[in-house]
Amino acid sequence: MGIAALVRLGLVVFVVVWLFGPEDLRAVVPLWLPFLVALGLEVQFFLNAWRSPAYRSTPPDRRPQEIDRELYGWAGDDDEEDDDEDDEWVPEEPRRPWPWRGLLAGLTVIATLGVLAVVVESRSGWRGLSDAEQAAATARFSAEASRIAGHPVEIRCDESGERVGFVQHTDGVAEIGGDVAYLTPDRCHELYRLAFDGETTGGTARGIAVLAHEAWHLQGVRDESTTECYALQSGVALGERLGLSEDEARRLMRQALAENQGGGTNLEYRVGPECRDGGNLDLNPDRSDFP
Ligand SMILES: [Zn+2]
Repeated sequence: MGIAALVRLGLVVFVVVWLFGPEDLRAVVPLWLPFLVALGLEVQFFLNAWRSPAYRSTPPDRRPQEIDRELYGWAGDDDEEDDDEDDEWVPEEPRRPWPWRGLLAGLTVIATLGVLAVVVESRSGWRGLSDAEQAAATARFSAEASRIAGHPVEIRCDESGERVGFVQHTDGVAEIGGDVAYLTPDRCHELYRLAFDGETTGGTARGIAVLAHEAWHLQGVRDESTTECYALQSGVALGERLGLSEDEARRLMRQALAENQGGGTNLEYRVGPECRDGGNLDLNPDRSDFP
C-alpha cells in the first residue's frame, strides 16, 4: 500500500473514531486538524509527483551507453548501421502518469469525509436537539448556575465555536462576576443527557465540573485553581440536582479531584494544598465529606 493510500485510510479511521468513538478524543483533538494534515500531505504528494524526475524523463535510452562503447568498441564505430538506427529511433512522447489524478482522489476522500462528518455531527449531539429541547436545557443550566453564582446568570451553549472550543481549547468561558457564560456543545450535551434523559457517560463528571466552574467565575472568583476547587465541591449537589444519586455525584467529583491532583492538569487549573477537608478552600468546614 502506498503512503497516499495509508494517509487516506488513516483519515477515514480517524473520522469514524472521532464521530463514534470515545468522547475524550473529541475533547482533545478538533475535527478539522486531521483534515488539515491530510490536505497538506495530499498537496505534498502531488508536488513530489509533479517534480519527480520519474514523471519527467523520456523513455530509457536503449542505445549503447558510453561505458558500453568503451568496453565493446562502439566508440568511433561510426558505421552505417548505427546511423540507420539513429534515424529510425524516434523518441516517443514521454508517458507521464497524471499527478492530478492522485490529488483528485485525495481531495475526493477528504471532501466526502468532510460532508459525512458535518452531516453526522448536525444530527447527533447537542446540534441534533430541537430548538425547544435546547431552550429547556439552557434554561435549566442557567437556573443551576444562578444558584452557585448567587445572582441571575445565563448559560449559553456556544455552537459557533467562536467563544469556546476549537482554538481556545477549553470547555467554557465566563466573565468574572458577570452574568453570561458559554459552554461547548459537547459539555451541554453531556449535561442534557444527565438532566433530561437520566444518562451518564464518561463525560458526565466533566460536564458537571465545567458548569460549576463557570458558575463560580460568574460569582466573582477569578483564580482558576480556587475556582476549580469550589467547582468540584459544588459539583456534588449540582450532580444530585441534575439526577445523580448523592453517592454517585460524590464519587464522580472525588474522581475528578483525584485526576486534577494526579498531574496532567494545566498547572493554572490544578487545585492547591488548601483544597482539602478543613483546608482554607473547604466550603463546608464543619463536614468531613470532601468534596
Ligand atoms: Zn476558569
